[in-house]
Amino acid sequence: MNKICNFCGHKIFRKKQVQYIYKHNERFLMVNDVPCEECEYCGEQYFQAEVLKKIEQDFQDIYFSGKKAKKEVKVPIEEFVEI
Ligand SMILES: [Zn+2]
Repeated sequence: MNKICNFCGHKIFRKKQVQYIYKHNERFLMVNDVPCEECEYCGEQYFQAEVLKKIEQDFQDIYFSGKKAKKEVKVPIEEFVEI
């Protein structure tokens, strides 16, 4: 793959699988083991457009089409000034 990191300009990437958190209007979807390429130098992660589209579609399916997610967790939310 011949590309350059948009942030630091380095060219070496490492394929990885990471946890991706999709957020839209205060709604969240967490997806495990999402393939991406990570810049070896600064750690910026790059996802392919079709990977992101798939996640977005799944988000729609879960929130608007009644698909049941594999698992759900309760997430505590805090305001920084109050902690
Ligand atoms: Zn970089």
